[in-house]
Amino acid sequence: MPRTALTPTEARGSVAAAPVVKAKSAPLRAMEKLGLRRDIDIALHVPLRYEDETRLIAIAELHDGVTAQVEGVVQRCEIQLRNRRQLLVTLADDAGDTLLLRFLHFYPSHQKTLAEGRRVRVRGEARGGFFGLEMVHPSFKAIDGDVPLATSLTPVYPTSASLPQAYLRRAVASALNRVDLSENVPAELLPPGITTLRDALRWLHHPPADAALAALEDRSHPAWQRLKFEELLAQQLSQLQAKCERAQQCAPRFRVTAGGLQDKLLTALPFSLTGAQRRVAEEIAADLQRARPDSGRGAQTSVPMHRLLQGDVGSGKTVVAALAAAIAIHNGWQCALMAPTEILADQHFRKLVDWLEPLGITTAWLTGSRKGRGRREMLERVASGEAGLVVGTHAVIQDDVQFAKLGLAIVDEQHRFGVAQRLALRSKLERHALEPHLLMMSATPIPRTLAMTMYADLDISTIDELPPGRTPIVTKLFADGKREAVVARIRDEVAHGKQVYWVCPLIEESAEGDATLIKNDTRSSKRPFGERPDLQNVIDTHQKLTEALPGVGVGLLHGRMKAADKAAMMARFTVGELSVLVATTVIEVGVDVPNASLMVIEHAERFGLSQLHQLRGRVGRGSVASVCVLLYAAPLSDTGKARLKAMAETTDGFEIARRDLAIRGPGEFLGARQSGAALLRFADLNDDLHLLHAARAAAEVMLKAHPDAAERQVLRWLGSKADYLKA
Ligand code: ADP
Ligand code: MG
Repeated sequence: MPRTALTPTEARGSVAAAPVVKAKSAPLRAMEKLGLRRDIDIALHVPLRYEDETRLIAIAELHDGVTAQVEGVVQRCEIQLRNRRQLLVTLADDAGDTLLLRFLHFYPSHQKTLAEGRRVRVRGEARGGFFGLEMVHPSFKAIDGDVPLATSLTPVYPTSASLPQAYLRRAVASALNRVDLSENVPAELLPPGITTLRDALRWLHHPPADAALAALEDRSHPAWQRLKFEELLAQQLSQLQAKCERAQQCAPRFRVTAGGLQDKLLTALPFSLTGAQRRVAEEIAADLQRARPDSGRGAQTSVPMHRLLQGDVGSGKTVVAALAAAIAIHNGWQCALMAPTEILADQHFRKLVDWLEPLGITTAWLTGSRKGRGRREMLERVASGEAGLVVGTHAVIQDDVQFAKLGLAIVDEQHRFGVAQRLALRSKLERHALEPHLLMMSATPIPRTLAMTMYADLDISTIDELPPGRTPIVTKLFADGKREAVVARIRDEVAHGKQVYWVCPLIEESAEGDATLIKNDTRSSKRPFGERPDLQNVIDTHQKLTEALPGVGVGLLHGRMKAADKAAMMARFTVGELSVLVATTVIEVGVDVPNASLMVIEHAERFGLSQLHQLRGRVGRGSVASVCVLLYAAPLSDTGKARLKAMAETTDGFEIARRDLAIRGPGEFLGARQSGAALLRFADLNDDLHLLHAARAAAEVMLKAHPDAAERQVLRWLGSKADYLKA
């Protein structure tokens, strides 16, 4: 029979064992919903706060706002019907002082326990009422004979409506008794002065009466340090394991020969590389040439590269990618470059064609919107190996795309791809005997701390220098009412032959706001524009700017346009036929028009800092001084103000990422890993860097010297989530 409520035995607290019944009770189902399945999960469900039931205070010591426990004898217990039906209880302690208890909701059992002459212990917040101090809805229990006070603070757990606190307390207590908390970490690898996991958990669930509550609440207590260290260690271990697994795989080994394609590309470029570009290009080339240390297959194979190339917007990542592609192609292998949007893929394609086709490399172009014969021809070129370089959107990883010899995969703006797409890419690649090398690129710099935790299985190359001759972008804040001044400024820029972006927010638009979206979402694509206020906004703005700027070519670009129309519009802006482009965030990633010198962002307060930084990076790409105007709807909240001010104060992508991390938490940066993955529950990357370093060091030693303990540690903390982290 399914149990839906506490049985009387449970309510009295004599059931110690974790409830294992054939049909799951409601509290048990509620526990599973909270992820509390294994004993260890339950033991790691730490209290939100604590209640002090270890002390009694005299009623005379109570004052307004104090939460405390008092004990006394009931002098009066009566139901009052005036105003509103309520139960009023007068309690007198041994000193003879009295306290009023007020219950607005009550049951007959209340009256029974709180009957005149009964001795009770009550706990609640004292308030100064009309008739002196009172407690509204205190917790209470009858005291028959000698009932000792609690010896430790009483935990209050995060819970849900169908999971009573008392049930959870018992479940935790019994899980703590059963669970195996034997030490996995060799003592010499623990940070100095740290407690055992067993002690830490006992302490956190049942702190002694004199515990420093402040240290518990701000998580600086040694017990917390242990929990955080444990968590970070499990995460580091699982990522290093992923790295080791990868190290077992084989990728083609490339040779970089003098006078090869990459040298030819370098010679043909209209600029010379910055120092940072040269450094990261060498790091990549070293990965591609490195022979496997062990392999029986000898010097022919290498460990697959798994590298993240990060660099601020405009730092010149594309040419570094092109150099890597040239190495692969020179060695007779194919290179695929995947970008998250069609516009971006198109830009890459044009640039790479310009650079690589003169060197005799054949390229292919694959996107969702390319269909029919054109697509079939492209697929043949890819399958036959004729195309050395294949550029496209996620169309590159569709089932019908077969590579003759894929040796290098490059993913631009990798964090924009979802879990499914990343897994598809991996499974596609695993079909071949040899793994391709993988280079991921990102213009959203990952703060170092985050990179170390969440991307411990990646090697990271950073371009920390912009190409020379760039004038820093000046950012200005304008209230929406000052639009006229902004339009005047546009007129001025255009008169000087410059180009302007005007960006409007479009909330529903996704990063892949292109043809695939329209195709899959017929309902909304059939809806007239007028029903979509956001879209209407960008269309209205386009209209108004067209009227305000007679004789100036003003274009419109948004995610609901057909891919071909978008490409055509973008091309007209690129060649300078249009001077102003009104757009949604489809232009956010990677669009490159060096002649654009003014960026206006409407409703800037609605964007994330990193997104604003990306958008701003669309200007200041040539040598002309560029301006970014952030238009905001007044009044701004205090954080809103602080955020926009941060944008005006710095153009350093890393600094902005750091501030964004502080404001929005790590989710923004993690892309694929954010959803459902084991984000840190206990550790905080801003405060716990020292623990992260200790965990990293311990993980490296444990994997080599204590692999079994390492495995136990990962299972203890991540259970089935471990695989997910490797996606
Ligand atoms: P991002 O890192 O944002 O992808 P891009 O690769 O698009 O940047 O490069 C931005 C612009 O800078 C492009 O026009 C590119 O051709 C140019 N560029 C790249 N490297 C250099 C360099 N070393 N010197 C001058 N211009 C460069
Ligand atoms: Mg780019």
